[in-house]
Amino acid sequence: MTAFDWTDRLRRPVTEYRRTCRRCGVVRYVPVAIATAKPQKASRLAGWLTPVVGRRRQQVNAERSLIADHNARIAEERRCRSCGSESYDEEEA
Ligand SMILES: [Zn+2]
Repeated sequence: MTAFDWTDRLRRPVTEYRRTCRRCGVVRYVPVAIATAKPQKASRLAGWLTPVVGRRRQQVNAERSLIADHNARIAEERRCRSCGSESYDEEEA
């Protein structure tokens, strides 16, 4: 699998979703790449069942780290930064 490439995403013009918090009304804009992304799992990567060493080990760790960042970003964008609510209205910006 290929890890999520932030730099590549940032270079392209992105449309955004506007999310309006249902609790406090704070508006935030979320890139489509994040708004539509699903959390990824690292379980398909090698290394869970068989030992991985050397360069491959580093690569696996790097991929896991990227996936963790990716998932954290998705979770972060689900929450209102002001009140922490995960309830929002969403529309294309
Ligand atoms: Zn809020």
